[in-house]
Amino acid sequence: MVGRFELVSGWGRTSPSYCDIRRPATDQEVVEIIETAKKTDKQIIPRGLGRSYGDAAQLGGNIVIDARSLDHIYGCDLESGVISVGAGISLDALMRIFVPMGWFVPVTPGTRFVTVGGAIAADVHGKNHHVDGSFGNHVISLTLIGSSGVMELDPSSEDFWATVGGMGLTGTIVRATIQMSKIETSLIKVDTERASDIDDLISIMEATDDNYKYSVAWIDLISSGKNLGRSVLTRGDHALLEDLPIQKRKRARYFDPKVGPKAPLSPPFSPLTPLTVKTFNTLWYYKSPSRKLGELQEITKFFHPLDGVGDWNKLYGPKGFCQYQFVVPFGQEDALKEIIDVTSRSKMTSFLAVLKRFGEGNASHLSFPSPGWTLALDVALGSLGPAKYFDYLDNVVLKAGGKIYLAKDSRVRPDLFSAMYPNLPKWQVIRDRLDPDNLFSSDLAKRLSILETK
Ligand SMILES: Cc1cc2nc3c(=O)[nH]c(=O)nc-3n(C[C@H](O)[C@H](O)[C@H](O)COP(=O)(O)OP(=O)(O)OC[C@H]3O[C@@H](n4cnc5c(N)ncnc54)[C@H](O)[C@@H]3O)c2cc1C
Repeated sequence: MVGRFELVSGWGRTSPSYCDIRRPATDQEVVEIIETAKKTDKQIIPRGLGRSYGDAAQLGGNIVIDARSLDHIYGCDLESGVISVGAGISLDALMRIFVPMGWFVPVTPGTRFVTVGGAIAADVHGKNHHVDGSFGNHVISLTLIGSSGVMELDPSSEDFWATVGGMGLTGTIVRATIQMSKIETSLIKVDTERASDIDDLISIMEATDDNYKYSVAWIDLISSGKNLGRSVLTRGDHALLEDLPIQKRKRARYFDPKVGPKAPLSPPFSPLTPLTVKTFNTLWYYKSPSRKLGELQEITKFFHPLDGVGDWNKLYGPKGFCQYQFVVPFGQEDALKEIIDVTSRSKMTSFLAVLKRFGEGNASHLSFPSPGWTLALDVALGSLGPAKYFDYLDNVVLKAGGKIYLAKDSRVRPDLFSAMYPNLPKWQVIRDRLDPDNLFSSDLAKRLSILETK
């Protein structure tokens, strides 16, 4: 558990921080780190696999609890699919262990290299949000170690919902009991179709998304005019045994993915220029089938295409990139279209963007998902004028009654953030009770004044 100052940063491009990293092996060691912080007047933030894009899991000059070491499996019931695990275990590890036994994680983000603690703290969503909600909806109970000691929390308590989506600011989650999802096979039965523009896409998704457990659209943000928002929609369900050819049924549940070749270490310039991205997007659109039904795809191809390329984020070159994700309520489709239109007309180099339809939110005050359209896009920071562009998007989102996602943010203005999250004051009251010593904080919390009551 001995700490030393190390440079930590987010996945996109955030100013890195020197932090005192502690790697506790037991719950008791977490308690001891908290006691040390109290005595030395330091603050703490827990960190998982560091896959949040901005500064959520760093705290310059202070203590970072690297929770990856808390990765035990405490129990599993293979009849019901209820598992009890350390918060540092990754979704990748859970899939490797439980997919062959017929259980899948209830929610997976676009990368499986996230920890259970990070998934709860950001209340992550997947392609099944419109059907199953976010990660917190599948947590039966959790153990939190905060400044007031060890707490066992379940969904009947407001402290549980302040921790779900609470970005590590209520304490360190050390373990969780989760309901996994039953599967017959490790394949997904996928329908792919192209949408010619954004209106076409919206009408297909509105009419038929609910027929699928998983749904996502990949949008070409560079095309404009009559091609504005042209997309490839992929939707699917876990394949049943009877969907597999007979010769594949013996090895129906298999999960042992390899990570592909790594991107070259810090290329001196980004190969992603407006021209190469435009060419890629066009090739990708026409290479995708205009309509293909019932294709059997592996979990990695369907859920985690980027995990197949090691260090793909380095492809953006030394200046890095900024990820931006927002949700606007249903009925605010004009705001969505305006953002797609502005992006296609701007000089931003934006690779494929991802559009999903969110279903109902949960009781968490700071959770991101709420009913509406959510778009996630990357912008290479070599492009001209990204600050003005993002400020413009913030205003469109706010005016439409939407919000940005904290796990992806590195630059929103504090006043806009609090306007987008009207339940922030309610969360602050609970958080102040849970952490009266104000021990837990993060660079993100400081940047956005999340802990400062107005
Ligand atoms: C390629 C890629 C695709 C992604 N796709 C999606 C997506 O589809 N949907 C989505 O919702 N997100 C997505 N994300 C974001 C990612 O799922 C979240 O940022 C997630 O929180 C990362 O988990 P982590 O373990 O890396 O946590 P970190 O990034 O290390 O931390 C994230 C937050 O969780 C807190 N935290 C971590 N561990 C604990 C703990 N033990 N106790 C208390 N708090 C803790 C941290 O303090 C921090 O505030 C994606 C990220 C990448 C890189």
